[in-house]
Amino acid sequence: MSMRKFEDTYQHKGLRKQLVQQLREKGITDENVLEAINNLPRHFFLDSAFDKIAYEDRAFPIGEGQTISQPYTVAYQTQLLQIKKGDKVLEIGTGSVYQASVLAQMGAWVYTIERQKKLYEKHKSFVFKTKYPNIKFFYGDGFEGLPTYGPFDKIIITAAAPFIPPKLIEQLKINGMMVIPVDEGNAQRMLRITKLPDGTIKEESFEQFSFVPMLAGKNG
Ligand code: SAH
Repeated sequence: MSMRKFEDTYQHKGLRKQLVQQLREKGITDENVLEAINNLPRHFFLDSAFDKIAYEDRAFPIGEGQTISQPYTVAYQTQLLQIKKGDKVLEIGTGSVYQASVLAQMGAWVYTIERQKKLYEKHKSFVFKTKYPNIKFFYGDGFEGLPTYGPFDKIIITAAAPFIPPKLIEQLKINGMMVIPVDEGNAQRMLRITKLPDGTIKEESFEQFSFVPMLAGKNG
């Protein structure tokens, strides 16, 4: 296997600016989200074969039948979470580590879980390991969350959930928010759940998206 050479050229940076402009036109307004995406070389998270198309607003395969989310989806979920510097965030579905890196770039403390052993193992050669010491990687089942590390200010689920996992609600702080795409047949409705001071939850419903399924148990 040859060493991958990571280069962020003027061409990449130009394409990234265009992508950010597209995200603005599609309705993303959180400047911190747009800045993080503008600063993050998405092509580093993909096989070099995707180098020229890495800044198209599309999902791409990352192996094991999984995908890196579409930039619009990443921006949309991150915007709904209202990320603030210092937020403690749990992510379900590490995948390519792109979403986790957007959160880390915004100053969050990220705890990310992946159920596919092969994808989890890739964190060992993660290109931004020293740049983002604020990302912690876990191999496990997202339905269980990380009870010993919670509660969290924010929780983001990046796979299609069949239902809202009760254990994740338990691991959310009071006034904390969870953004989760929940199954509706072929598509998923993006929901934002807020945990209220009396322990009940408020549910807001947003656009429809299409994610790979959130599966129970570990694989590998
Ligand atoms: N956030 C990722 C998107 C990856 S796609 C990125 O930025 O690239 C969704 C990921 O969720 C897949 O890698 C899949 O293996 C993982 N996944 C699915 N069900 C899961 C579960 N129960 N726990 C943890 N990860 C899960």
